[in-house]
Amino acid sequence: MSFDSLGLAAPLLKAIADAGYTTPTPIQAQAIPAVLNGGDLMAGAQTGTGKTAGFTLPMLHRLSTGAPLLNKRGKPAIRALVLTPTRELAAQVEESVQTYGKYLPLKSMVMFGGVGMQPQINRLRDGVDILVATPGRLLDHAQQGTLDLSQVQILVLDEADRMLDMGFIHDIKKVLAILPQKKQSLLFSATFSDDIKALADRLLNQPALIEV
Ligand code: AMP
Repeated sequence: MSFDSLGLAAPLLKAIADAGYTTPTPIQAQAIPAVLNGGDLMAGAQTGTGKTAGFTLPMLHRLSTGAPLLNKRGKPAIRALVLTPTRELAAQVEESVQTYGKYLPLKSMVMFGGVGMQPQINRLRDGVDILVATPGRLLDHAQQGTLDLSQVQILVLDEADRMLDMGFIHDIKKVLAILPQKKQSLLFSATFSDDIKALADRLLNQPALIEV
């Protein structure tokens, strides 16, 4: 199988070719069509399976083919939110967004704690289409009124099991409460405990199920 048959836009196929990828990994072959369809997804995948491209590529496709949204200041509004358990993973995911989205006019930002708020506030003011964040700092901004998530269309929870292991369930619930009800939600997890299943039940609407 090749990437060409998955229905991704030409600027994404070009970035994939630049990265030297020729064949989708099993998680990509399944997740990409499912996400392009617009439905929710629950995917079981370990690190190293290519899961990041599995959600990043179809997310970028949907954002690039959908109507651009502007916020009150006339700047790009956040349409996609990716939550990760750690700063390191957030930085890696945002790097992937940049790599695969390099031929698309979409702006991404990574946000995590342990660094100053003000540079993040300035960056948010410039407009962001795709935000990759850890839950704690995201809530700090939301509570201060420096972050508008009212136009989010796609939510990804990456390594959801690690987020729960790290005690982020309350933060995640608070984030979910400030997101629009109507959105596409994707949950990636290496393991499926009862807590993950409960979170999936709460969040996902008739999800496609993928396990690799
Ligand atoms: P991940 O599981 O998302 O952390 O990805 C693991 C590694 O696989 C990353 O270094 C990617 O650059 C690489 N990768 C992802 N998809 C492919 C692919 N289809 N072909 C070759 N390498 C890939």
